[in-house]
Amino acid sequence: MNFTIQNVFISVEDGYANCDVQVINGTIAAIAPHLDIVGTLINGKNKLLLPGFVNAHTHSSEMWQRGIMSAFPLELWLAELYDFAPLDLEKVYLSALGTAVETLLSGGTSVVDHLVLIPGKELETIATAVRAYQEVGIRAFVAPLIQDESLSASIPSGEGSQIHEPYFRPTTATLEIIEEAVRLFHRPDEGVSLLVAPTGIQLCSDDLFLGCIELSDRYNLCRHSHLLETKAQEKLALEKYGCSAVEHLKHIGYLSDRTTLAHCVWLTDADIAILAETKSTVVHNPLSNLRLGSGIAPILKYRQAGINVTFGCDGASSNDSQDLLEAIKIGSILHNVTDFDYQYWITPRQAVEMASLGGAKGLNLGDQLGSLTVGKKADLVLYDLTSLSLLPRTDPIGLLVLGRPVHAVESVWVDGRQIVADGKVTTINIEDLKQSLFHHSQWQPKRKSQTAEQIEAHYRKVMGL
Ligand SMILES: [Zn+2]
Repeated sequence: MNFTIQNVFISVEDGYANCDVQVINGTIAAIAPHLDIVGTLINGKNKLLLPGFVNAHTHSSEMWQRGIMSAFPLELWLAELYDFAPLDLEKVYLSALGTAVETLLSGGTSVVDHLVLIPGKELETIATAVRAYQEVGIRAFVAPLIQDESLSASIPSGEGSQIHEPYFRPTTATLEIIEEAVRLFHRPDEGVSLLVAPTGIQLCSDDLFLGCIELSDRYNLCRHSHLLETKAQEKLALEKYGCSAVEHLKHIGYLSDRTTLAHCVWLTDADIAILAETKSTVVHNPLSNLRLGSGIAPILKYRQAGINVTFGCDGASSNDSQDLLEAIKIGSILHNVTDFDYQYWITPRQAVEMASLGGAKGLNLGDQLGSLTVGKKADLVLYDLTSLSLLPRTDPIGLLVLGRPVHAVESVWVDGRQIVADGKVTTINIEDLKQSLFHHSQWQPKRKSQTAEQIEAHYRKVMGL
């Protein structure tokens, strides 16, 4: 597991340096020119070495519905998604493999999977995703997606009140499943961590949030959730709590320096101050927000307020890929149209830092991951700067972030273990994966979601459409 990358470009203050990087026992041991060769020699000539990015919010099993979802806003889209959700473990396994592979080949070394659980097979679902991630070797943060209210509760009532069916499982039973999953699978030293991850205020009671806080404190787990992804959720929070969702989450104690919040599109200035004060992390999912018409998160305001921001692909049904470099590109330049003051626009170097160190900080691992620093874990990505998409030669990081890199990732190491070489994942058989994805799916015509049809009239009414 020891190796030395020789003569590689690394990013320094205002340019690049040509250095050698020594990795010993999974840790970056030295970075300097002309080091002794320890372990395997890797030729770094005309290559760029960056810390691995974090795909900080996704839902792996959505891969089965990419490219087919209707042009719906989140609330109706979710109804369609759930009507056709895969309910077999083999599919959970394959889509976790696929998510890991696409993340690795677009510069990611960690994935946060807000994992949709098959009802009645919750622990098996988690075990299956964990197995897939361990086989690939990506650093996995499995965040089992839980809720304790039924889908119709996610839409504001508007005038008059709505009656919702009770959720099929009591809150305490859900929390017991998560605690059991933590006991079985939370192994940070082996590259698998569990997070508590109530889906969001739109489908979760305070009891569920409080139970998650308690588990997070007891087992030292990071916290994850969707937050104010849509205008409807902003309205719903006011109906439900009489204050904003952020104020409420602060009040019950969910926000912290190890809490990552996906989306954060509809926040007020007061909400922004709360996220800064609680040191919460925002996960920006620009492609999903565009695809579902959710809005544009005010990311530059967050950065100016000192909030840590990182990137996610979100599930492949609302993206419809898992290309992290694409999310980073769009998530950076999107804000040039919302904010006139170009001095705050996100530069390629800032985007790289947000995707790597920003992701690590959100997972409470800023001291162990996210930068090329001696003593940190060797979660590294080596880019081939002679790839056609990165030529002719100009600024390597500029080409990587603002360009459209194709086959640019040459090697990837997680914890010092090489899992991509010559642009190919070495730990699993990709041909087998392609065959399995092909045979477990079929070409599909357009389909109709009954649940979306049932709730559409009410949705249009409360949203003034
Ligand atoms: Zn999501």
